[in-house]
Amino acid sequence: MVPVNQTIARSERSLHKTVSDTHKPIAAIREEELGPDGLLKRVDTLFLNNKECPFQCVMCDLWKHTLDEPTPLGAIPHQIDIALSTLPSDGQVIKLYNSGNFFDAKAIPPKDYPEICARIARYERVILENHPKLCDDRVLAFTKHLPSTTRVELALGVETVHPQWLEGLNKSMTPADIERAAQWAHAQAFDVRAFLLLHAPTISKRNEVLQDVSLEQRRDWTLKSVKWVQEKGFTAATLIPLRPDLLPEGSGDAPTLQEVERTAIAAKKIADRMRLFVDCWDMDPSELLKTINSQPPKTLTC
Ligand code: SF4
Repeated sequence: MVPVNQTIARSERSLHKTVSDTHKPIAAIREEELGPDGLLKRVDTLFLNNKECPFQCVMCDLWKHTLDEPTPLGAIPHQIDIALSTLPSDGQVIKLYNSGNFFDAKAIPPKDYPEICARIARYERVILENHPKLCDDRVLAFTKHLPSTTRVELALGVETVHPQWLEGLNKSMTPADIERAAQWAHAQAFDVRAFLLLHAPTISKRNEVLQDVSLEQRRDWTLKSVKWVQEKGFTAATLIPLRPDLLPEGSGDAPTLQEVERTAIAAKKIADRMRLFVDCWDMDPSELLKTINSQPPKTLTC
């Protein structure tokens, strides 16, 4: 085993950040995504600019698009106004992604919840990314301001359900925490989707890269994670190939497009009760799509 090549220390991160204006969103995009009813939905994704996430997961560089200080009151509603002004007004689903966890009070101030909900009330579905340990009454303090007809969906970064690998990611959660969060969400009649790493870095709790993990084991655990989240009632999962620049030194190669394709098709066979998506990052998905589109039915998009 070799020590993990630590990324930039938190104290030095400010020098490497790309954002500073608290009143401007990072981006806003319109996409189509398969909905739970089997129909394509017009989805607006807003990337909000807010305080850096307090967790320090080894595979995450979202902190580059965050602020050092707590997000000021009023900044998020203002960002939403700007973001929505750049998009058509016929969106059906909105994703509020904030490079962290929506229910981290220093990232999204709870006093802004009524203003935020007023701006997104016209959407039929609201998707919020969150850490499993923050799935509790904090969510209800937000959703109580939404119309009763709005469907709420929590997007949880499950990453992997291999207990030791998950521990090594430094995300301060266990599969039991994820299961509890999903059960809690279901009790509120919320949907839950999972982000799963393809393939998760394998790091021990002593912060050392486990080098004796084969490609087959990594693929196998991605598939086991797909099966696990489906069994726990998740209604969608997104496979996220680990980018080469985020792979800890010594822990093998990032998945190739062919590997993404192979695993995604295998995962699709398992995911027969939930939607499966693949986030292709900077990969050219045209070759992948050729294969996927020849597979029945349309449950996997890229
Ligand atoms: S909790 Fe999410 S946003 Fe925060 S460091 Fe981990 S992966 Fe990144």
